Amino acid sequence: MGLLYNMNEKHTVRRPAIFLDRDGVLTEEKSYVCSCEEMRIFPYAEECIRKIKEKGYYAIVITNQSGVARGLFTENCLMKMNDYLKQVLNVDAIYYCPHHIEGRVKKYAIVCNCRKPGTGMIERACRDFNIDMEKSFLAGDRASDIKAGKNAGIRTVLLESGYGTAGLESNVVPDYICYDLRDMIKILD
Ligand SMILES: [Mg+2]
Ligand SMILES: [Zn+2]
Repeated sequence: MGLLYNMNEKHTVRRPAIFLDRDGVLTEEKSYVCSCEEMRIFPYAEECIRKIKEKGYYAIVITNQSGVARGLFTENCLMKMNDYLKQVLNVDAIYYCPHHIEGRVKKYAIVCNCRKPGTGMIERACRDFNIDMEKSFLAGDRASDIKAGKNAGIRTVLLESGYGTAGLESNVVPDYICYDLRDMIKILD
């Protein structure tokens, strides 16, 4: 698992977190985004992250990026995309899973616990930050996001700005369904 966060900041204050999926939540969903040039950050995302932080939450991105394992882009390239996203959105941290069991890049073709619906990225964030999980949320656009949130025991929000309900398996029931990140801000305590 990889991560990017600002080592200079102190994360000792106990706060809830909003765990945010990337594609379909902060950026346009378009299967595999392989470069910064291809990444389309939603125009409202920056303001939403600012509001999330103003409301006293950590803004933590957790993203499955199996394109690395599939050989579509390198981990180094993904780190550049993360740098760019962090710079534009000023999130507190970005955790990513580069793995996929069916990947063709051997190093990443493993079963891991970080790929959502696994909770490895959330657990890692809990070690790096002092997170009040009872008041935290996970926002994503796919069943794997909602399942990851449920596996971690936090409230889940399905956003319609990516795959949304159309792509959701019937046995997955999010706590909230919102149109997009702007809509989600309204439910925050
Ligand atoms: Mg997504
Ligand atoms: Zn992984």
